[in-house]
Amino acid sequence: MPDLATPSKTIEILKKHNFSFQKKYGQNFLIDRHILEKIVTAAEISKSDCVLEIGPGIGTMTQYLAEHAGKVIAVEIDKCLIPILEETLTGYDNVIIKNQDILRIDILNLVKEYNNSKPVKVVANLPYYITTPIIMALFEQHIPLETITLMVQKEVAERIKTGPGSKEYGALSLAVQYYAKPEIIAVVPPACFIPKPAVSSAVLHLKKHPAPTVNVTDEDFLFKIIRAAFNQRRKTLANALTNADNLKLTRKEITDTLKKMNLNESIRGEALSLAEFAVLSNQLMLKNIDNID
Ligand code: SAM
Repeated sequence: MPDLATPSKTIEILKKHNFSFQKKYGQNFLIDRHILEKIVTAAEISKSDCVLEIGPGIGTMTQYLAEHAGKVIAVEIDKCLIPILEETLTGYDNVIIKNQDILRIDILNLVKEYNNSKPVKVVANLPYYITTPIIMALFEQHIPLETITLMVQKEVAERIKTGPGSKEYGALSLAVQYYAKPEIIAVVPPACFIPKPAVSSAVLHLKKHPAPTVNVTDEDFLFKIIRAAFNQRRKTLANALTNADNLKLTRKEITDTLKKMNLNESIRGEALSLAEFAVLSNQLMLKNIDNID
């Protein structure tokens, strides 16, 4: 049974290897077995799965993953952690350790090499500074994957999960919900980590939609509209889109389209659902193309 998930074992291994925490890598190691079990259960990992773990640290979660999965690919940026991982993962012949930056590695190629391009399950206790870039990279690069189960800042999990009308609702909520169904599995207090982070965390589970849930003519244009709407979230949607440098739309074209959709012309972006953004972007895309020509 894996046994690293206690304060004493974690401190023992860190001392043995004279390890110094690197703040720039967001190193907060999990020391709570219940949370590890919740993550593995939420990710529904079985022996037929290949798991991509981002940031294994000293291998605490990696051991749990290796026990349950067929294969684990663990990508760790900090070279000082590699000898520790080699020690803590001795005895697991189903773990591949890569000393690389997840934001620079070719993930598509990694999945091709180790899982024949079949869907993987991504599991990570993420450094907070890469939460948004990594989630978006996984979806936008169309990495073959089924689910993403992540430890993130509680506030970020709430932002991703929320819908129209809430003040947390924004471009990140819409981008993630376009690709997946988010669920918050557990709230995790700072005391579950060494060292303790300044804020609470949450386990977020994202189940990728098998097919898009909204009909979108041009994904890039949809995201341009969404970003423009929330870049100036205190302005009306019509003003925010008219002011956007990368869109070529007149205020009248936008308000006419809103009227056609039975939406008030003074509505703000934060009131629109993903389905409404999809309809709006499909209609405005044609006008934008006409205005460029
Ligand atoms: N999974 C371990 C655990 O739960 O105890 C460690 C989690 S710690 C919050 C984040 C880990 O991600 C650290 O080991 C850190 O060195 C690693 N990391 C940070 N940035 C990374 C990056 N760009 N690519 C790969 N790993 C990274």
